[in-house]
Amino acid sequence: MRYHNITKADMLNGEGLRVVLWTSGCDHHCPACQNALTWDENDGLLLDDDAIQEIYHELEQSWCNGLTLSGGDPLFLKNRKTIRDLVLNVKMRYPKKTIWVYTGYTWEELMSQMENDSNLKEILEHINVLLEGKFVLKLKEEKLKYVGSANQRIIDVEKTLQKENGEIVLYIDNSSIAHQLKKESITC
Ligand code: SF4
Repeated sequence: MRYHNITKADMLNGEGLRVVLWTSGCDHHCPACQNALTWDENDGLLLDDDAIQEIYHELEQSWCNGLTLSGGDPLFLKNRKTIRDLVLNVKMRYPKKTIWVYTGYTWEELMSQMENDSNLKEILEHINVLLEGKFVLKLKEEKLKYVGSANQRIIDVEKTLQKENGEIVLYIDNSSIAHQLKKESITC
């Protein structure tokens, strides 16, 4: 798997200060995507042992709250085996640090793929938060927390997987912000 960047002490892509791995490869191709440079799976640097050690080094810092996987799409089909290995290793080495994952797939799409994809299943069983759905330009809103458009949900993965009725438990609910902004735009 290839990646474009590893950013450190990042405050914009999850709670607290985080190390962020920007993976290569995405086939969602959302119009107005801000990271279109990362779509090509063959572009960027190889995620070799040095890169993984760089991530571990950040996670060892007391101020680092955890790892965020972004891109590109970390759940791009060809990325899943490498992401599975990384997620399991990070959880084993740093059980107190959280793992947040951005993806263009919706939760429902991932659930339908999970039965036939053991890598995806193991990823979802070991991460904390999933920020899901394509970026939709007409729903773009800058005041939303951690996502770019109002359709994208921030899901508490562990709690959601425990639900037997398929109910989605949000980790952060942006809907009230989106609703408030809609009201303000009507009244202004
Ligand atoms: S899923 Fe993310 S990286 Fe992929 S095209 Fe959409 S906004 Fe861009």
